[in-house]
Amino acid sequence: MPTTQPNILLIYTGGTIGMIKDPNSGALKSFDFNNLLKKIPELKLLDCNIKTVSFENPIDSSNMNPKYWIKMAEIIEANYNEFDGFVVLHGSDTMSYSASALSFMLENLTKPVIFTGSQLPIGDLRTDAKENLITTIQMASQQLNGKPIIREVGLYFEYKLYRGNRTTKINAEHFEAFESLNYPCLAESGVHLKIYKEYLLKPNPRKKLKVHKNFGTNIALIKLFPGISKSVLESVLNTKSLEGVILETYGAGNTTTEKWFLDLIKQTLVRGLPIINVTQCSGGSVMMGQYETSSQLLTLGLISGKDITTEAAIAKLMYLLGENISAKTFKTIFETPLRGEMS
Ligand code: ASP
Repeated sequence: MPTTQPNILLIYTGGTIGMIKDPNSGALKSFDFNNLLKKIPELKLLDCNIKTVSFENPIDSSNMNPKYWIKMAEIIEANYNEFDGFVVLHGSDTMSYSASALSFMLENLTKPVIFTGSQLPIGDLRTDAKENLITTIQMASQQLNGKPIIREVGLYFEYKLYRGNRTTKINAEHFEAFESLNYPCLAESGVHLKIYKEYLLKPNPRKKLKVHKNFGTNIALIKLFPGISKSVLESVLNTKSLEGVILETYGAGNTTTEKWFLDLIKQTLVRGLPIINVTQCSGGSVMMGQYETSSQLLTLGLISGKDITTEAAIAKLMYLLGENISAKTFKTIFETPLRGEMS
């Protein structure tokens, strides 16, 4: 029986993987995609058909923004029926933000969209790019009865496939640059590719892909620290255009109980602005009410980010603000896992 190979679309957005050193300054800058492909002749040996598309001007992912998220989502949308899987080459600096954003944008996704990149350029002798790229393509090609096994937005780096919206970049030096502290990895690459099916999202195959492209970007991320200034916080929270706030709190969602602070939070909530309580800890969950230092936050109506990452909380807040959800239901919807981003 003739077997048909999966069709994979490789989307190159930029990042170290395709960079070269500027001969004058010595700084790494984006290079063109064709050069990158030439460096990996092994791609021809994979059991899939690969087509490629590149951003016209590849970027360092520190320049990432929602306009590029929309660009990526539109490439996937336009090619959705023709391809069985998508691999996004992306800088590691903001990869977790983009993977989170795309997970919310691509509702009813039933194909793999896997982000990867590298810590060293593909042309470097010790590069981690080859393994990352080749295995990501293999992960995206995994099928059962002609259907993709992975049907969500993932992030593959250094032998592990994670759920994209559960990841955080934790290291700028090690090849193992990402962690997913609140959710197990979805697959691992050793002698064999092991896929942990019990952890994969199970979308409804009958539902059609719906791509969301609106974001509310007038949000603030406030990380608490001992001695945080009242006047600075006042001016941020009283910003006219402000639409929502992510508050990075201590431990299980605790804050100072000083009156000025709680009054300010209350005034902001009364103005109808959602405030999301996300922990500063890399692992674990917000549990308002566990300590006295979070009981009042619960009473005031702060939204619990539970065990969401800050990256996913930002993407979710921007996405939900773009959906024009009523103030009444905002809290309930935010606290509901939409794409496996919280427990
Ligand atoms: N600065 C680079 C970027 O995020 C780092 C990398 O790709 O690893 O685009």
